[in-house]
Amino acid sequence: MTDATTLVIFGVSGDLTSRLLLPALGQLLAHEPSRRVRLIGADREDWTDRDLEELVRTAFATAGAEAAASRVDASYRRTDITRAEDLSALLAECTGQVALYFAVPPSVTTAAFQALTAQMIPDGAVLVLEKPFGVDEESARTLNRTLAGLVSESQVFRVDHFLGRSTTLNLLGARFANRLLEPLWSAESIESIDIVYDEQLGLEGRAGYYDSAGAMVDMIQSHLLQVLAVLAMEQPATLGEVDFRATTSAVLRATSIWADDPAASSRRARYTAGTVAGIDKPSYVDEPGVDPTRGTETLAEATFEVRNARWSGVPFTLRSGKAIGDPAREIVVRFRPVRHVPVGLTGSAAGAVLRFSLGPDRISLELNVNGADDPFELERTTLSADLGEGALKAYAEVLSGVLDGDPMLAVRGDAAEESWRIVEPIRQAWKRGDVPLEEYPAGSPGPEGWAALS
Ligand code: NDP
Repeated sequence: MTDATTLVIFGVSGDLTSRLLLPALGQLLAHEPSRRVRLIGADREDWTDRDLEELVRTAFATAGAEAAASRVDASYRRTDITRAEDLSALLAECTGQVALYFAVPPSVTTAAFQALTAQMIPDGAVLVLEKPFGVDEESARTLNRTLAGLVSESQVFRVDHFLGRSTTLNLLGARFANRLLEPLWSAESIESIDIVYDEQLGLEGRAGYYDSAGAMVDMIQSHLLQVLAVLAMEQPATLGEVDFRATTSAVLRATSIWADDPAASSRRARYTAGTVAGIDKPSYVDEPGVDPTRGTETLAEATFEVRNARWSGVPFTLRSGKAIGDPAREIVVRFRPVRHVPVGLTGSAAGAVLRFSLGPDRISLELNVNGADDPFELERTTLSADLGEGALKAYAEVLSGVLDGDPMLAVRGDAAEESWRIVEPIRQAWKRGDVPLEEYPAGSPGPEGWAALS
């Protein structure tokens, strides 16, 4: 396989690899029959190549891509990536275009970077890092400095699979390819924007990670701020990585908590026992591995402002919660009402609302029209269309960029630091106790008294 990309997955026996990465690789290979991948799986298991081949087959089957498994040349290398001699031996056998995917806990990635030297890394290899990227702005900055000593920025892929979601990519087409929308895409015509990603899932055994992150870091800092950046960006001349990432980073640099008041502009809560989709969930604090004294939130909401000429004065509210009944996953763009409705037309002339639903992907536009019964009475109507799933799921889209060495959908170093900077005042306010930690029963829409966003 001389033209194959070598994909090294560190942490190949882990949850991320078997549940998301390998199925995504299967989907990508099934979609692109000419693509070839040499897969080297590495961690500290007592595995053989056969074990890895079996893992690949099983994972590909979950994506309906069994046939593509034969196009993967898989080998397993027992490697402790915190040891320089192990890393050096493994990297010496990587040829061609190489991608090194760190699917290991962040502390292990950091230790591996201490052991790695620039000389060990094959020419042009890309380094792929999972979230969380650091634990705050300072640690993200330190990690960026370490990476800069190893490879150039365009070789670093900080993964945010939300950027690979078809809905996020659909935003670009809907906004930039329609004269109907683009000239209206500013504070002149838009009143507010909500980005909501609630889910039915509870902790699902991931206390080790989640209990020290919480919804603000796990979702808002890691993912939803990137979606905000795509929504609010200036129009880039091209979707090349330099233009795209420069314009999204500029949005994040201009973004701060609303009114510089984290106490008034954020809310947090955690779930108590309840039933979600017919399944009983224990209280978050009774989930195995949770330390209740940490006060970790499972639902976070915060309003931000993008302080530039296009957006000043428009609230962007971001929210994400776990164990929510009937969860909303959507981007809601509310337009301002018209300045004047002709006297003689009755009824509400509320502003138009444009919604992008995430999974299943759907776009809809609520408009005012003349009523069917009384032509002088305004009625609301909704135009909507299914957008389809996109040929590739989010992780497959991300992997495609990784294997092609195109970092357009990867988070740039400065953007990663900015997203920590943006949420820091909220985290501080929560630590001080300025914002009460409310409760909601699992399966409910959230705490009583929280107005629904959408
Ligand atoms: P797991 O704990 O399931 O797997 C961790 C992997 O790292 C194992 O294969 C482990 O194997 C390996 N590992 C640990 N220490 C070393 C070492 N010194 N040398 C080589 N390998 C090592 O973690 P996840 O798969 O859940 O998470 C991996 C990363 O992905 C984390 O950064 C996480 O935050 C991120 N992530 C995970 C998601 C998920 O849904 N799981 C979602 C989004 C991001 P062994 O101990 O045998 O060496």
